[in-house]
Amino acid sequence: MLLVWHRADLRTHDHPALFHAARASTQVAPVFVLDPVLLKMPYSGRTRIAFLYANLQALNESYQQLGSSLVVRHGTPEEELLKLARESGANAIYALRSDEPIGRERDARVKELLEKNGIELKLFESDTIQQPGSIKSLSDTSYKVFTPFWKTWSSHSISTLATPKNLEPHQLISLEIPEPNAQVALPEAGETAAKVKLEHFIRNVGLHYESWRNTPAVDGTSQLSKYLHLGVISPRYAALRAQQAGMTGWVRELCWRDFYRHILFDEPRLAVEPFKPAWKNFPWRDSSGDFEAWKLGCTGYPIVDAGMRQLMTTGWMHNRVRMIVASFLTKHLLLDWQLGEAHFMELLIDGDLASNNGGWQWTAGCGVDAAPYFRVFNPVTQGEKFDVNAEYIQKFVPELRDLEPKFAHQPWTMTRPPKAYADPIVPLTFGRERFLETAKLHLKN
Ligand SMILES: Cc1cc2nc3c(=O)[nH]c(=O)nc-3n(C[C@H](O)[C@H](O)[C@H](O)COP(=O)(O)OP(=O)(O)OC[C@H]3O[C@@H](n4cnc5c(N)ncnc54)[C@H](O)[C@@H]3O)c2cc1C
Repeated sequence: MLLVWHRADLRTHDHPALFHAARASTQVAPVFVLDPVLLKMPYSGRTRIAFLYANLQALNESYQQLGSSLVVRHGTPEEELLKLARESGANAIYALRSDEPIGRERDARVKELLEKNGIELKLFESDTIQQPGSIKSLSDTSYKVFTPFWKTWSSHSISTLATPKNLEPHQLISLEIPEPNAQVALPEAGETAAKVKLEHFIRNVGLHYESWRNTPAVDGTSQLSKYLHLGVISPRYAALRAQQAGMTGWVRELCWRDFYRHILFDEPRLAVEPFKPAWKNFPWRDSSGDFEAWKLGCTGYPIVDAGMRQLMTTGWMHNRVRMIVASFLTKHLLLDWQLGEAHFMELLIDGDLASNNGGWQWTAGCGVDAAPYFRVFNPVTQGEKFDVNAEYIQKFVPELRDLEPKFAHQPWTMTRPPKAYADPIVPLTFGRERFLETAKLHLKN
């Protein structure tokens, strides 16, 4: 008997551990361990946990179609896996390698305990398209800049593995999967739903992606991040389908996902500190009032507030708006990017350590290949450029619904601005200059 241990890889298609286990043995049991410590961390995010439960149910259904079922247990992975190995007589557990610091530490703990007990933990390719460590420059170093990374990355081929046709049933007892309890509407769970979403995106957006991807009012991006984060769809499968459809621009976005994962794999310290050492001890302001206003979408800047309210009410935010709200927090409000990073992790369905950390460090100016610190997004011109008719703003900020677009972008320029909407929390020029002076002074030292 072999066990396949699922973590953030909730699918049966293109799954290296499942593929190899099914080739090595006719008896394979898939397992998932719900670790109460992880589930209680604010960082794990209530919505993400609800979507995890929904996807565990869907994974169980995928396995039932193959003649098996998912075994779910509660506890620390090392103890539960040891118990399961003993119950089933398995002498090996197969899983995908984790690239994140917490996952790597967990796997090392699990491996040590299992090996002491004569059980092997065999780790296969992680859930990136190209494996960390495989994309190197001519001088054999890993890239810290995206464009050369992308060039080398795209010269490697992409392949996927077949799903086993059927599995033998097993006798292991499973605990019930908790009911998903989310405050926002969850997308349909499961690998079939994710694949349908991908095909819908290819058919309806396809080659328009490049021109639609920066318009938050339009359904111009895939929204597959919600599935990719939990490994419900294989990134290799998605990239191959997009390549077949000629969607190089979209594959390039998937490459950003790999880029941040490779970086974090090389430098686990980035989970807790800026890439550029000069940014350590940056004199961020301390203002819980401003932070709360930002979180609640009450800054008085319409595109920022629309983004934060989209996050609050849907658990997702458009990429262009993520950059705008992150820039506003770190630059105009001069608040620590790590506050924003943690808040995103709490609310995003797609909250993903590597991409989120990479996105925040990039926007603040302290990360790999980051925007130079002096590039400060102006939330008004960004809104006017990317949400020309203020449709996105008016969808999420009802107080501004009846205004002409030019006023919806700058309600304070009206003779009588809507009373229900907040006044700007900080004057734009003042906020920008304050940030630039602080950064100049700190980075010079
Ligand atoms: C401050 C900030 C925080 C972010 N936090 C996250 C996060 O927690 N989780 C997350 O998945 N993405 C994060 N991103 C990246 C990006 O915003 C989302 O991946 C994207 O909005 C997801 O929507 P989509 O699936 O429709 O993307 P699409 O445009 O359809 O792109 C396809 C896929 O490519 C990947 N991708 C696209 N853009 C990026 C990017 N800039 N960096 C890394 N991968 C990318 C994602 O996996 C995405 O699903 C963040 C970006 C910023 C600026």
